[in-house]
Amino acid sequence: AAKADRSGVVVHSPDLDRHDPAQLGLFGDLRRGIRDGELRVHYQPKATLADGRVIGVEALVRWDHPQRGLLPPSEFIGVAETTGLIRTLTDVVLGRALGDCRRWRAEGAALSVAVNLSARVLLDTALPDRISGLLAEHGLPADCLELEVTESAAMQDPGQALDVLQRLRALGITLSVDDYGTGHASLSYLSRLPVSTLKIDRSFVSTMEVDGTDQVIVRSTIELAHALGLRVVAEGVETRGTWERLVALGCDEAQGYWLGRPGPAEDVLARVAAIEAS
Ligand code: C2E
Ligand code: CA
Ligand code: CA
Ligand code: CA
Repeated sequence: AAKADRSGVVVHSPDLDRHDPAQLGLFGDLRRGIRDGELRVHYQPKATLADGRVIGVEALVRWDHPQRGLLPPSEFIGVAETTGLIRTLTDVVLGRALGDCRRWRAEGAALSVAVNLSARVLLDTALPDRISGLLAEHGLPADCLELEVTESAAMQDPGQALDVLQRLRALGITLSVDDYGTGHASLSYLSRLPVSTLKIDRSFVSTMEVDGTDQVIVRSTIELAHALGLRVVAEGVETRGTWERLVALGCDEAQGYWLGRPGPAEDVLARVAAIEAS
């Protein structure tokens, strides 16, 4: 059976393979790393395609490991999800993101910040109350925060996840469907969820200049999403050519290496100014 320690972290998770020493070691190390403040949050800018203004950033977690250096989420999100550490990790990222957002706003940049939510976190019925507490603590309006959930997360155990999504939406938080096109959700299903934005997965966007099929998928997704009243963000925009194609297709916003890679909070304001001046 699962047992929670004082921080609410499930130690003996049924999902964690206790016979896999590598996974167990990583779990213990990550739990220690979170406790010792080794998580970092980097931010990637997102701009409107109509006028190139940066309107927000996406928060992306990294782990500054004492021996292994700065680790990308692919190295540790999986084990966080199977052990329940994802809840603490998400709370750390949310707190950091809102603190940074408040500082940018104090310096005159009206940016919103987007935070990724794993499927498991959407089943946490206490999440909306924690988020509304964090917003109040930082004195930020709810429209500063955007939450990104994948198609499959939004579709799981529909009752409970939907209830959490509806309560988050009722707070005034913007909800986005992440990695659209990689799961099995239909647009008509997604448009019935309390989401306002669709992020087209970068596997279609980054290749749309050279792959006619991907371009057709991106174009028809934009048209259908708009017809259903959703905003569309293209992720993985790596070239000027892709940016211009997306402008022509009427896509709303873009994110990707062409605008900038994820980087630390301290650099965000200077990078936003540089993007808007170019
Ligand atoms: P995602 O939410 O789809 O985030 C976008 C990923 O694409 C980021 O990778 C970003 O660095 C990368 N990217 C952005 N622009 C481009 C581009 O133009 N080309 C290419 N090739 N890649 C680009 P990253 O930071 O390694 O994050 C990977 C995934 O880890 C994220 O995918 C998200 O699913 C997850 N993740 C990151 N932070 C968190 C978090 O705080 N909580 C949770 N639950 N998941 C997170
Ligand atoms: Ca995302
Ligand atoms: Ca994505
Ligand atoms: Ca992704």
